[in-house]
Amino acid sequence: MIVIMRSHAPQEQVQAVIDRVHELGFRPHVSTGEERTVIGIIGDERHLQEDAFEIIEGVERVVRVLKPFKIASRDFHPENTVIPINGCRIGSKQVILMAGPCSVESRDQVFEAAEAFKEAGGHIFRAGAFKPRTSPYSFRGLGEQGLCLLAEVKSAFGLAIVTEVMAPEQVPMVAGVADILQIGTRNMQNYNLLDAVGRIDKPVLLKRGMMSTMEELLMSAEYILSSGNERVMLCERGIRTFETYTRNTLDLSAVPVLKELTHLPILVDPSHACGKAAWINALSRAAIASGADGLLVEMHPHPEVAISDGAQQISPQAFRELMADLERVAEAVDRSL
Ligand code: PEP
Ligand code: MN
Repeated sequence: MIVIMRSHAPQEQVQAVIDRVHELGFRPHVSTGEERTVIGIIGDERHLQEDAFEIIEGVERVVRVLKPFKIASRDFHPENTVIPINGCRIGSKQVILMAGPCSVESRDQVFEAAEAFKEAGGHIFRAGAFKPRTSPYSFRGLGEQGLCLLAEVKSAFGLAIVTEVMAPEQVPMVAGVADILQIGTRNMQNYNLLDAVGRIDKPVLLKRGMMSTMEELLMSAEYILSSGNERVMLCERGIRTFETYTRNTLDLSAVPVLKELTHLPILVDPSHACGKAAWINALSRAAIASGADGLLVEMHPHPEVAISDGAQQISPQAFRELMADLERVAEAVDRSL
C-alpha cells in the first residue's frame, strides 16, 4: 500500500503518517519528490484498510500496490533513482559506459586495458577477479590476487571499479576494493548473497538471470533493497531462447518494461547477450536508443589471446569507435555521454 501526500504537505503531516505506519506494526519507506512525498508501507498488508491513512490530514490518496515487488516499484518511488559514483550519475541523463576485460588475467593485461579505457573516456572500469564458469576446468579468475590488481588500477588511474562477488563471505573483501559489486546472472537468485550485499554501503549491479523473468529480477532487487541497500542497478544481459546464432538473446524489451515498473537504473550488457565482438556496436546503439542508462561491455587489449570470453571482447580501437557512435545516439535521445 502507498500513501500519497498532497502537494507540498508539511513535514508534521508526513510524520503523522509515518507514526501511524509504525503503530500498526509496519515499516515505512519514504520517497520525497520535488512536489510530493510518497510513503510506502512494507509488511503483510492483506488486512490493512485504506481508511487507516485516508483520515490523516494531508493525505491525498491511498493506493494498494498489487505488484509483489514494493521498494523496487515505481509506485513506491516515482522518480528515477540516481546513483552518483566518481563524478558519474548512473540513472540520470548521462549514459554510463562500463567496460574492461572479462577477467583480470595479469598485471600487464589489466593495466593496458585500463589505460586504453581511460584514454577513450570510459566511466567505470570492469574486470572479474572471481569468475563463475560453466565448466570447473575453465579459468575461474585470479581471485584475491585479481582483486589486489584492481585496487592498483584504481589508484593508478583514478577509475571506479565494478567487479563480481560470488559468495556472501567474499562481500567484505570485494567491497574493500569495488565501487560497485556485481551479482552475475548465475547468482541472481542466490538469496543469501542478495541479503549480504543488501547490508553493505556500496552500490550493487544485479544482472538478470539467464532464465529469469523481469518480475523475478525485480524480486531479487527487492531482497537487496529490503535489507537496507537502496543503491541497486539492474542489467539485462541476454536470456536463453531457441536461437543459437547468438550466445543468448538480448531482450531489449526489458529496457522500456523495467523503466516503467521500477525507478532503478537499467544497464545493458551486449557482450554476454550476443557473444560476438562484431555485433556489440549495433546492440549497444540499440540499447541506448531504447532508453538504457548505460552499458557493460567487455573490452580486452588483445582479444585474440583472452583467457575467457575472447570471441565477444572488443579491441580498444573498437571501443573508441563505440564511444564516438554512442555520443551521436545519446544526443538523438536527448542524453549525453
Ligand atoms: C560478467 O559480466 O563477467 C559475467 C560473468 O556476466 P554474466 O553473469 O552475465 O554471465
Ligand atoms: Mn565474460
